[in-house]
Amino acid sequence: MHELSLCESIVSLVTESAGREGLRRVTRVTVDIGVASAIDPDALLFCFPIVTEDTPAAGAELAVNRIALQARCAACGADFSPESLISPCPACGSHDRSLRAGRDMRVVSFEGE
Ligand SMILES: [Zn+2]
Repeated sequence: MHELSLCESIVSLVTESAGREGLRRVTRVTVDIGVASAIDPDALLFCFPIVTEDTPAAGAELAVNRIALQARCAACGADFSPESLISPCPACGSHDRSLRAGRDMRVVSFEGE
């Protein structure tokens, strides 16, 4: 389950940043997860309390934003939200498009005190 190691990365990133900012504990962490990122948000939510145990982020809330796929067609320049990684451009039918969002996971923000 790669969500566990992913969760550990998130927690170490956040607790290090919180420490630098002089926060004693982290109360809330917000992450963006692309729908095509192959990360299961439920697994992440399940891992979070386990990974944060005995860290400054213990008891913190994890908020997950699902980020839809966003693509730009290389043929006609249209921006669109494909339903899947293999969906063609709805304007011209081209498959020559680049994904601009929806495949990544990132920590957006965290709160602490
Ligand atoms: Zn197009």
